[in-house]
Amino acid sequence: MASLNDIRSTFLNFFEADAHQKIHSAPLVPQNDPTLMFVNAGMVPFKDYFTGAATPPSPRATTSQKCVRAGGKHNDLDNVGYTARHLTFFEMLGNFSFGDYFKNHAIESAWTLVTRDFGLDPKRLLVTVYIDDDEAAAIWKKVTGFSDDKIIRIAGSDNFWAMGDSGPCGPCTEIFWDYGDHVPGGPPGSPDEDGDRYVEIWNNVFMQFEKENDEIVRDLPKPSVDTGMGLERIASVLQGKNSVFDTDLFQTLIGASAEATSTDPHGDMAPSHRVIADHLRSSAFLIADGVTPSNEGRGYVLRRIMRRAMRHAHLLGAADPLMHRLVPTLVAEMGQAYPELKRAQASVEDTMKQEEIRFRTTLGRGMGLLEDATRDLAPGDVIPGRTAFSLYDTYGFPLDLTQDEARRRGFTVDTDAFDAAMEEQKTRGKANWKGSGQIASTGEWLALKDRLGPTVFNGYDAVDGSGEV
Ligand code: ATP
Ligand code: MG
Ligand code: MG
Ligand code: MG
Repeated sequence: MASLNDIRSTFLNFFEADAHQKIHSAPLVPQNDPTLMFVNAGMVPFKDYFTGAATPPSPRATTSQKCVRAGGKHNDLDNVGYTARHLTFFEMLGNFSFGDYFKNHAIESAWTLVTRDFGLDPKRLLVTVYIDDDEAAAIWKKVTGFSDDKIIRIAGSDNFWAMGDSGPCGPCTEIFWDYGDHVPGGPPGSPDEDGDRYVEIWNNVFMQFEKENDEIVRDLPKPSVDTGMGLERIASVLQGKNSVFDTDLFQTLIGASAEATSTDPHGDMAPSHRVIADHLRSSAFLIADGVTPSNEGRGYVLRRIMRRAMRHAHLLGAADPLMHRLVPTLVAEMGQAYPELKRAQASVEDTMKQEEIRFRTTLGRGMGLLEDATRDLAPGDVIPGRTAFSLYDTYGFPLDLTQDEARRRGFTVDTDAFDAAMEEQKTRGKANWKGSGQIASTGEWLALKDRLGPTVFNGYDAVDGSGEV
């Protein structure tokens, strides 16, 4: 059985043999791109090559790019644990043509890799093209011999990519795997496309036009190609598993958390193990790339991810900090492909341990408060915003952590009332600050900062946006 590590190599070697320069993943924190929270696609580090602002070292490149989709516009945080295919951290395998080859070669290469090198059965594959991309549809037909119903035309933005209101844009074509009719879900473009039966494994973007102020104004003189294949998704297909969490790497991580907590990795606790494994990866890789947990911006997204994992560790009954104990297993699995993770191992462990020690001082009591607040609620009821705010303000529960716990119990949270309580405290905080006397010690100041920090946090959504891909 091909492991994740084998599959990554197969992909990169395939394109390297086809004159693509192999480039190591860029860090998760975007370099020179303040509009974007985290790198969330393989093309992000190459934006300037596509716009022509910089010259690429080679006209073709291939990478396995670390991606985080949490806390920005592409936010899969709430999906994790609930779908079989979404992770907050994943590796996006890609091949890129910077004004070199275009649709023909991209589609032929994708098909060769998927059916010859990966050996997937063409009968279980299908593709989508943008509604008016007759060229891509014709190439697919020629290359695969598919009937028209396996080359699905899609009108929406899923099959048309744009860098922003201005810049390169163009149609996409995506490859899907059919897990079979025992899995619920419909084909792409159908009302139940979000099920787990048809899973998107590879997106090929054809940058062909240029936009100005959201309008296509001209053809690009040298069209380009940008592709992205989720490593964990192709691994689940190749390993005959219905879920990314059943692949070799995740089974090893889940085995480690099950052993460390003496709990059953299957059964009732399975979702907690899945969340822990995913969040372990995203937080470890973020810390290795220099992010530290804090109350604002990127650091707050990291804190949210870490605390969610720690809540699940608590659900597993972990008596001591858990996350840092899982790091060696992660490093053993991924440290060779990502030496930066190995190099940062000690600081990753330490950061996780400190954060978990800190959060555990309030976590148990916060969970108790939530328990009391929800005892008399019926499924579908709403948890008052005040309760969520107390959890946030006094117990350090990020709102989405409370929402996630509420969802597990069948409730929702009144977020408008939460926002109102936050606003109120902000006003009060400012008034108190003026009136209050001196702060005696650094410890006190830190405690105050920790408590008030989130109230001055002006929203990570503000950072994200135009850099969205
Ligand atoms: P989906 O529709 O399943 O959410 P997407 O259309 O948002 O995926 P793209 O932006 O096209 O994904 O990214 C390219 C590829 O990256 C996808 O085809 C998929 O294989 C992988 N991918 C995207 N999001 C995730 C995720 N959250 N976890 C794991 N793999 C992902
Ligand atoms: Mg998505
Ligand atoms: Mg999609
Ligand atoms: Mg897609």
